[in-house]
Amino acid sequence: MLSRLPRRVATALAGGVLTAGVLTAGAAAVPVAERPAATGPALVRVHAPASADRAQLAGLGLDLTPRAGAGFVDALVHGPDDLARLRAAGLRWTVLESDLGERQRRYRELDQRLAAQTAVSPLPSGRIAYRTLGDYERELRELAARYPELVRLVRLDHQTLEGRWVYGVEIAHGVQMPDGRPVFLLMGLHHAREWPSGEHAMEFAYDLVRHAYTDPRIARLLREGRALIVPVVNPDGFEKSRAAGALEWKRKNCRQWDGVVEHPVAECATYADNGLTSRGVDVNRNYGGFWGGRGSSDQWWAQDYRGQAPFSEPETRNVRDLVASRQVTVLISNHTYGNLVLRSPGVAGGNAPEESLYQALGDRMATQNGYTSQAAYQLYPTNGTVEDWAYYATGALGYTFEINPKDFHPDFGSAVIDEYLGHGVYAGKGNREAYLVAFETAVDPGYHGVVTGFAPVGAVLRAVKEFTMRTDDPGGSASGPIAFRQRLESAMTVTVPRFTWHLNPSLRPSQEPGVGLLPESWTLSCTRPDGTVLETQQVTVARGQRVEVRFDRCLARFAVR
Ligand SMILES: [Zn+2]
Repeated sequence: MLSRLPRRVATALAGGVLTAGVLTAGAAAVPVAERPAATGPALVRVHAPASADRAQLAGLGLDLTPRAGAGFVDALVHGPDDLARLRAAGLRWTVLESDLGERQRRYRELDQRLAAQTAVSPLPSGRIAYRTLGDYERELRELAARYPELVRLVRLDHQTLEGRWVYGVEIAHGVQMPDGRPVFLLMGLHHAREWPSGEHAMEFAYDLVRHAYTDPRIARLLREGRALIVPVVNPDGFEKSRAAGALEWKRKNCRQWDGVVEHPVAECATYADNGLTSRGVDVNRNYGGFWGGRGSSDQWWAQDYRGQAPFSEPETRNVRDLVASRQVTVLISNHTYGNLVLRSPGVAGGNAPEESLYQALGDRMATQNGYTSQAAYQLYPTNGTVEDWAYYATGALGYTFEINPKDFHPDFGSAVIDEYLGHGVYAGKGNREAYLVAFETAVDPGYHGVVTGFAPVGAVLRAVKEFTMRTDDPGGSASGPIAFRQRLESAMTVTVPRFTWHLNPSLRPSQEPGVGLLPESWTLSCTRPDGTVLETQQVTVARGQRVEVRFDRCLARFAVR
């Protein structure tokens, strides 16, 4: 439970350490009168040469950026408390920017210059400026209304704490037919301030729609698979950040009080007025797989606060239920920044059971956008991210893209147009090409399982798995990892006598190091459209395997009433 103690976080930074021109921690203080008031957080480079330093740094609850290199991690400093934590941990730092508010003004000037020079960008949508939450929702609806054969609006299951619904679009030829095609899932804006992460997802939606009939490569992808695009996973937080006021650097969702169901609308913004910018749960530390542990914080003020329980937040329940009810074979979760392609696991101590295949796809995407492909723990420890859960629950190959080298939401031209379409030696590639490679892999039967066979036309086939997963050790009052049940259930309608169903492998990656793949099966049932089960079979299918199934009893009984 969060305490209701008011807590004012000064934006002006103490001690002169963060004043422009004073570059080293502990340097002589500049007199107060000479210091201009900061309008945003500061950016510091924390020296963390050893992986133990990074693990210690990750445990401080600070606002770490994904920008890290040989011996350092960059972090935002929101006030004197943050510096006190660094100092108490014995870590050294260098100030890179004393006032990110100033840097944002320079970015917005670049945006204005772009808008003055051009009316239409080379992006698939032609946009020249960041979308608002209203823009996203309107455009998703418009795409679905204009192209009903191609685009279906999807509303996720759980309302956010401020009562919003989260929307996405499913894009495929004959999109309305619930057949057995594999799914590529692309998401943005788990983290509120990472504006380009939603833009890249949205532009890929436009790209697919624009080229659905004219580009043979995209036409094939939309015949053989489905793209599922959710540009704004965390709309409450994004709306606050996008207003570019006191909450411009907000990262988390609008969870103000743990255990409280009703959150008055606007409370999230109101508390910012008191300087409480740090409330909320880090949506990308709240997934159940490996939740807890040293790659997230159990403190409500921390920027990587994991929440009071695995899947305690509506945003993570939304993505969990979306993935659990479909056969998502590849997924990408967009973030900013640092030019990285990250894969599970988020903590050191054993690679994913299918590391070579998992790494190879990450590497292949990284050759399109020029990013660095690595396991997430090589940046710093993280727990409870979407790919931590998705890979170990479903076998979906999940990745985090950390887009652009500069900032969380720098100028639109460099972070969206250049990074999406590719620039320099990556011109014509960029994230557009990386997403296409991901989508091609998602539909490639070599990377998932296929079940084929005969079943009655009109029958509904159902694939169900239920199993136990675990969190990491959250410490505190918990005695070791927490076990939780996970159910996967998806369905397809048989449209031709010989059906083909693209499924994730039934063999499940073990969360325990060195164990490999668990020998599990899908429970496949053949049912009437009203749900009457006519036949059930256990089917074991490995990645890259094709299995033949005959629903003979279902065939014999389907027509008989
Ligand atoms: Zn992020």
